[in-house]
Amino acid sequence: MKSLRSSWPFIRKKLQQADELVLFLDYDGTVTPICSHPDQAKLSPQARDLLEQVVRQPWIWVALVSGRALKDLKRMTDVGGICYVGNHGLELEGPKLRHVNPAALKARPLLKQIFRRLTVVLKPIAGAWVEDKGLTLTVHLRQVKQDDKFLVRNLFHEVVRPYREKKQVRITAGKEVFEVRPPVRWTKGTVVRWLLARRNALHPTAKVLPIYIGDDLTDEDAFQALGAQGVSVLVGSPNPLSRAQFRVASVDEALRFLQLLLEVWKGKGSRAG
Ligand SMILES: [Mg+2]
Repeated sequence: MKSLRSSWPFIRKKLQQADELVLFLDYDGTVTPICSHPDQAKLSPQARDLLEQVVRQPWIWVALVSGRALKDLKRMTDVGGICYVGNHGLELEGPKLRHVNPAALKARPLLKQIFRRLTVVLKPIAGAWVEDKGLTLTVHLRQVKQDDKFLVRNLFHEVVRPYREKKQVRITAGKEVFEVRPPVRWTKGTVVRWLLARRNALHPTAKVLPIYIGDDLTDEDAFQALGAQGVSVLVGSPNPLSRAQFRVASVDEALRFLQLLLEVWKGKGSRAG
């Protein structure tokens, strides 16, 4: 994995050669710093302004791809013209686009049941809480004392094991979270492929450059989906296991990259349609 700064001439050239940009951005830890409670992770006025400028550019299509519920993601961001992808792709909504995964909808009553069980079991542990995100559940560990984390992990697995064994749910982990998902193989990578195929179908003759920026384990599927033709950027410390091609160290650096990208795009003049 190379630092984005040292690879900038290469990336700038890719930008200059592209007719259309398809820009996928994760939310938490990518355009906004991670906070101890997800409600605190508000988009800064500068980041919002930058996003609005990027979205307004001709031939840049932007999707925010998050593990948050769609409604929550829209509430936190509130920028028009963006495609919002919630619950790791299980629900999405954007200009002329709306989709909810039917298998995820079907699993909803079961998830509600698991939500109630987890809530009861984790109640005595300070800082542990379960978030019902509609199509998925998240157990948050960030505010749990270090010594209690193993207990949360054990209780979590005890509750979800029967459902997992019957393949009624999928279990995943992220930064300080466990997640319960419906039993569908639908990841950030799947949704990125799906959205890219749509963009390519709309402009079959255009050179479409996909870019994905993300910071977490769930973003790895999307990094892989982009492969070598796109530009994949990990936000955070060097990680030899990551499939991202490039790395920036922080949210600030990720936003600076967006600023540079905007400048290159503005300087290009008109493109093919
Ligand atoms: Mg993230």
